[in-house]
Amino acid sequence: MEVKTSLLDNMIGVGDMVLLEPLNEDSFIVNLRNRFDHNEIYTYIGSVVISMNPYRSLPIYTPQKVEEYRNRNFYELSPHIYALADEAYRSLRDQDKDQCILITGESGAGKTEASKLVMSYVAAVCGKGQEVNKVKEQLLQSNPVLEAFGNAKTMRNDNSSRFGKYMDIEFDFKGDPLGGVISNYLLEKSRVCKQPRGERNFHIFYQLLSGASDDTLMKLKLDRDFSKYNYLSLDSANVNGLDDAASFRTVRNAMQIVGFMEAEVQSVLELVAAVLKLGNIEFKPESRVNGFDESREMCELLGIEQSVLERAFSYRTVEAKMEKMSTTLNVAQAYYARDALAKNLYSRLFSWLVTRINESIKVGPLSGLVMGVLDIYGFEIFEDNSFEQFIINYCNEKLQQIFIELTLREEQEEYIREDIEWTNIEYFNNAIICDLIENNQNGILAMLDEECLRPGTVTDDTFLDKLNTICAEHQHFESRLNKNSKFLTDHSLPHSCFRIQHYAGKVLYRVEGFVDKNNDLLYRDLSQAMYKATHSLMRQLFPEGNPAKVNLKRPPTAGFQFKASVGVLMKNLQTKNPNYIRCIKPNDKKVAHIFTDSLVCHQVRYLGLVENVRVRRAGYAFQMLYLLSYSSRCSCFYHPLDAFFLCPQLFTLEERRRACLEDLATLIQKIYRGWKSRTHFLLLKKSQVV
Ligand code: ADP
Ligand code: MG
Repeated sequence: MEVKTSLLDNMIGVGDMVLLEPLNEDSFIVNLRNRFDHNEIYTYIGSVVISMNPYRSLPIYTPQKVEEYRNRNFYELSPHIYALADEAYRSLRDQDKDQCILITGESGAGKTEASKLVMSYVAAVCGKGQEVNKVKEQLLQSNPVLEAFGNAKTMRNDNSSRFGKYMDIEFDFKGDPLGGVISNYLLEKSRVCKQPRGERNFHIFYQLLSGASDDTLMKLKLDRDFSKYNYLSLDSANVNGLDDAASFRTVRNAMQIVGFMEAEVQSVLELVAAVLKLGNIEFKPESRVNGFDESREMCELLGIEQSVLERAFSYRTVEAKMEKMSTTLNVAQAYYARDALAKNLYSRLFSWLVTRINESIKVGPLSGLVMGVLDIYGFEIFEDNSFEQFIINYCNEKLQQIFIELTLREEQEEYIREDIEWTNIEYFNNAIICDLIENNQNGILAMLDEECLRPGTVTDDTFLDKLNTICAEHQHFESRLNKNSKFLTDHSLPHSCFRIQHYAGKVLYRVEGFVDKNNDLLYRDLSQAMYKATHSLMRQLFPEGNPAKVNLKRPPTAGFQFKASVGVLMKNLQTKNPNYIRCIKPNDKKVAHIFTDSLVCHQVRYLGLVENVRVRRAGYAFQMLYLLSYSSRCSCFYHPLDAFFLCPQLFTLEERRRACLEDLATLIQKIYRGWKSRTHFLLLKKSQVV
């Protein structure tokens, strides 16, 4: 039997981990490192793409590369993100299967870049024509707009996404894009008022001050000097490699392409300016506004009477049972109110931007073929972890859960269903952690909600007490079931903290701010003051300030909303064919050429990548064995059509059922495409030994 391996032999290291011999964590890392050292940043695990962040631009995304990968079989060329994009796009177009691209990895691993590469590849290979090109441009240009308002420089990434994003791109039957819908998830709005050391506020603030014309700044009553603004951190205002002024022009241009009217852009910038002004308003005892000019300028920008704003910062009205009571705010409360207003204003502006972009790119009721691209904040373990990290990490647990469901569990269960001899491959199932967080009765989010809604004095510490009591009971219960609890309590725990064993590591959360951030309440006096603005976008952002629509019902908590939207997202993803990109960060310094074994090893371990290879490998080896026994009787052993009739055991029930229907041609095509590839030939060669 002749097996052609020339291309693979020329490859650096092993392009598909399924072929790695011997397979263990060490060889896995050595292979990744070897490839990384030779600029091969992509490696497969079957159809999963591992992507190592090169931290420098490589000449592998040229139009020639796009042509090279276009319409080629997945395993035909060396591993590339384009191969995955091509495969997903063609299955969508030719087999009418909705696709989703799931991109995971920790902050700075390259998720956002990967999502843009997938989008630009698909844009390059799908239909052409004036209308189609306009749609493509709008879809692509939504990225710089959202990045300006939703990304910031952090310690881990100079362009870190501080919101989660899922974009459904819709295609017609020819494979031409029709439009899309973007969903955004919880923006880290605390950043508006305060940034951790060495980090910045959202890019747009710096871009506006550096890039706007003198005239624009004058109209917005802004000063170019960052140091004039309390909300802008100064120690890291200028970031190497970031040209804020140039980015501002890119963003303006992108907004225009997406379809924003000039007046809308103006309104948006006025609100950005208003946030900066708000940050400069200060208070003296008895909460009298100090910084009269700032508050006057802000009021002029928004068309609010200054006395209305100042009153809203001085008093709080509490309404209960038809009675209104006014209390005076002290200085601390006035600052709290100011920051709450700034955070709310900014995050509502962000959501409005997403809605506005959707208006431009939407296609009416979804009906066509859909490709979803998920780029959501990665797992975060900081020194100081708060409510935001808790929410972000919960989301990552859910994504890991989907990965486990679809690649580790389902595949194995299928073999077992099919009565195939199978040695179970152990993997860590994080369902228990998801449950700890989201269980409706005693999950952490439910307990937090319960505490937030409870009458009486509620503080972060009462929440923690509750957590400790209930989780301790739970722990006791679980240890009786021989399960290890993921809520960790021990004596080393610092004051006011709890610790969770996440799939990606232990994280210590400080409870300070949990209750407040979950409540996410804005004094009604403030929303009513904002609603009195003549600035129409401002009014639109605070609809609850309309006195005609006084609603005494509490809005849902932040945690509740997030859990619900993540639930919807997971359901949506499960209806689509998943394509995985697992991003890995090679070092903590954000630099090229450095590959830190321990760091990579940690990621490989928690992403369950070696287990992933084992499951894949066992699956393939089994299929090949059948082909092999068949091959001894036939010269053309791998033709899937023959294989299908002679070895129906090779196919899953679902494939067999589908094959009996009209779908045979597609099925054959799919299998043929997969098995004819060199990767599997090689595997075939290996399993000859069996
Ligand atoms: P994440 O979204 O996972 O937090 P990003 O996609 O923002 O990470 O990547 C962080 C930085 O790493 C980028 O700003 C870019 O400088 C670099 N980077 C990531 N992927 C690539 C790539 N494929 N080629 C070159 N540089 C990359
Ligand atoms: Mg990102």
